[in-house]
Amino acid sequence: SKKHRTRIDTRSKEAFERAKRVIPGGVNSPVRAFKSVNQTPLVIERGEGSRITDIDGQTYIDYVLSWGPLIAGHAHPEVVEAIKRTAEKGTSFGAPTELETLMAELVCERVPSVEVVRMVNSGTEATMSALRLARGFTNRSKILKFEGSYHGHADSLLIKAGSGVATLGLPDSPGVPKSVAAHTLTVPYNDLESVKLAFERYGEEIAAIIVEPIAGNMGVVPPLPGFLAGLREVTSNYGSLLIFDEVMTGFRVHLNCAQGLYGITPDLTCLGKVIGGGLPVGAYGGRREIMDKMAPVGPIYQAGTLSGNPLAMAAGYTTLKLMTEESYRLLERLSVRLHAGLERNAAETGIPMTINRVGSMVCPFFTDKHVINYDLAKTANTERFRTVFRRLLDNGVNIAPSPFEGWFVSIAHSVDDIDETIEAHRAAMLKL
Ligand code: PMP
Repeated sequence: SKKHRTRIDTRSKEAFERAKRVIPGGVNSPVRAFKSVNQTPLVIERGEGSRITDIDGQTYIDYVLSWGPLIAGHAHPEVVEAIKRTAEKGTSFGAPTELETLMAELVCERVPSVEVVRMVNSGTEATMSALRLARGFTNRSKILKFEGSYHGHADSLLIKAGSGVATLGLPDSPGVPKSVAAHTLTVPYNDLESVKLAFERYGEEIAAIIVEPIAGNMGVVPPLPGFLAGLREVTSNYGSLLIFDEVMTGFRVHLNCAQGLYGITPDLTCLGKVIGGGLPVGAYGGRREIMDKMAPVGPIYQAGTLSGNPLAMAAGYTTLKLMTEESYRLLERLSVRLHAGLERNAAETGIPMTINRVGSMVCPFFTDKHVINYDLAKTANTERFRTVFRRLLDNGVNIAPSPFEGWFVSIAHSVDDIDETIEAHRAAMLKL
């Protein structure tokens, strides 16, 4: 087994100091600063397949994959080619292109709940727009979300949120008016009884439940059997909409997204990450009857100068086309191998670890608890996480700098990558 390295970060440090002078915290999204793991962030030079290289010339096997989008790996030749070909014809028109229809047809074909889909530029825009639509359609104001879920940074949704806000301990952001926050109800994930109680009390006022069908922003927490079906039933009974936020899970866990995997059909679906293939894309869609409330057919407004951008459509469409049934079987094989390896390392070292996994979303928690919600996710030992994170980085493996994120596997990862990762993890776990 290989020797422990120490990461060189001379140039990254310099670059980060320079960035901090002109960018808040040196980053354009908070978690990138590595604040919670007390490290200099990787400043990236390039990526290829399963690997990224930083400006200090070190290469890492990457399980962040731009926080999920790069299911085909970095700079996939077909994706790069599609972007180049498209760019040569102009990068944006603010007018319809046929590519947008191709993309919409593919999404409608693959996502069970989606008959009509609107492209936006991020997951945040997708969830924000879906909420406005749900409120406009039902003529109600309240929404229900789950503790530790992250649905982007729109005002209504930054309440008891997961992801970076959990990592940094800022679940309720200043700047969100109390009057807005008052419309957001939160209950623990996987807790159908609390959902039912909330509906008994406020049911007639609730426009929608928004839920990650597999929670991915408190670490990875799969839905318990019956949970999603219960949400479907409650919302139908009360005339509320069920919104699946599949920004992370969409085309990540299954060709037909989490809703295809579990056989539960929401009213609206939010997408992002994978459907952009590494370019800025989000989308929301659902039944025609609901989506037709959006302008220009209906009165609810939402728009975007760069929405449906040709480069983004080209990258996303090509990525989705690369993802066949066989691709998902490959992801499953690689992820099972990784899961088993991490489990062996935990057993060998005697360090308590619970690994939650759905397909290529893999999440080792440093806890012996069965993690089914955010409170249980928080029982995980953060000191151990930080140590393992740093040692993995030293040994050439990049995972998200937070215990509240899973590891993503791509079709560009090889069996050798996985085995090298397991070995690096073993070394990181020894002498914890
Ligand atoms: N919803 C979920 C489930 C997410 O994981 C994220 C991003 N991690 C978002 C929404 C927000 O997407 P974006 O960062 O593209 O705005």
